[in-house]
Amino acid sequence: MTETTEVFRARAETWLAANASTAPRDYGAICPPDLISEGRTWQIRLNEAGFTGIHWPVEHGGQGLSVAHTATWIELCARHGVPPMLNMVGLVLAGGSILRFGTPAQQSLHLGSTLAADHVWCQLFSEPGAGSDLGGLSTKAVRDGERFIVNGQKVWCSGGRYSNWGILMARTDTDAPKHEGISFFLCPMNTPGIEIRPLRQMTGEAEFDEVFFTDVELPADCLLGPLHGGWGVGMAVLTSERGHIGASVIGLERRLESMAQLGSSRELDAPSRDRLAQLLSRGHAFKAMGQRQGPEASTAASLMKLGITEMMFDTAMLKGDIAGAASILEGSDATGMLAAPGGRIAGGTSQVQRNIIGERLLGLAREPKAK
Ligand SMILES: Cc1cc2nc3c(=O)[nH]c(=O)nc-3n(C[C@H](O)[C@H](O)[C@H](O)COP(=O)(O)OP(=O)(O)OC[C@H]3O[C@@H](n4cnc5c(N)ncnc54)[C@H](O)[C@@H]3O)c2cc1C
Repeated sequence: MTETTEVFRARAETWLAANASTAPRDYGAICPPDLISEGRTWQIRLNEAGFTGIHWPVEHGGQGLSVAHTATWIELCARHGVPPMLNMVGLVLAGGSILRFGTPAQQSLHLGSTLAADHVWCQLFSEPGAGSDLGGLSTKAVRDGERFIVNGQKVWCSGGRYSNWGILMARTDTDAPKHEGISFFLCPMNTPGIEIRPLRQMTGEAEFDEVFFTDVELPADCLLGPLHGGWGVGMAVLTSERGHIGASVIGLERRLESMAQLGSSRELDAPSRDRLAQLLSRGHAFKAMGQRQGPEASTAASLMKLGITEMMFDTAMLKGDIAGAASILEGSDATGMLAAPGGRIAGGTSQVQRNIIGERLLGLAREPKAK
């Protein structure tokens, strides 16, 4: 008989109470390069303990439980302040797309190895000329018998340096309308012709890479899903992040607690107290919305993404203002201010979220599309 979510919750809670202290700090969806070794060790332990691939079928190394069990796990990890998995790209995006679109050979090559952290994934979607408008990507994969020859450039690839596999979107038909000429590949990152160059951010860290493809030969069986049907695969992948709203509510709760501390631990002047109070009430409104929403992804996910990242940006600026001139040079307040804009860009920019909310929730006129 399937384990109920209540029984699963109790089992997971007991395991986390005993093991959370061995986890890396909760780094969010993307494992930073300096934590990759700890992140992989954590993923291996989760796999051995039966807390990975929770809703994946047993024949692919999963636990055969439901999406509700996965949502419970993610929520409990957020409560304990530990990463629920090594990274979203591998365990949610790559794994989810291979489960849904993979051939039996692709499933047996990748799924178990991804759960065991032997296959570590990066996402090769964005390009210098294609981010929000991903359909405009220009990296080409040209069919040549039993292989594709790939040429082009990807950018903002988180964790490219430490990944041995990448999910890659490339143009396979240059004559078709832009969304109909793209294919989706599972790309071994050690293939000759792939060059990875770190990009330094304004925080001083280098968490991203540029990835250059020069006459890279990909075997034809690296194609995932239909030839020229990669847009459908990519979009299914990007909307498959179910279960994360519950976790973002818990994450938000923790952030609100630490923001409230800001008011009690420092002498704030009246305007700063006013700004803090406004931020806290915004945060509590989003928390209430997230609790009403439940674990399903929907347009509310855009409201949560926009609301939380904008609130975190404003909070980072408030902290910097309170700290004064000292925060401009170094320290956690300076790092917070420099890192905050990234949250408004990753996973769809704030402007793009506003377009989605305007068009799908408020029923506003659709944005004109370039032909
Ligand atoms: C922390 C982080 C991690 C990332 N990791 C990865 C990764 O691993 N792999 C990967 O492929 N990519 C990754 N990205 C890239 C990310 O997906 C893109 O930065 C994002 O999609 C925006 O694209 P862009 O940077 O090209 O900006 P653009 O799309 O060029 O946008 C520039 C500006 O124009 C605005 N804009 C664009 N279109 C519209 C519109 N239609 N209406 C109104 N305003 C608009 C945008 O909001 C933005 O302000 C990451 C980004 C960040 C910040």
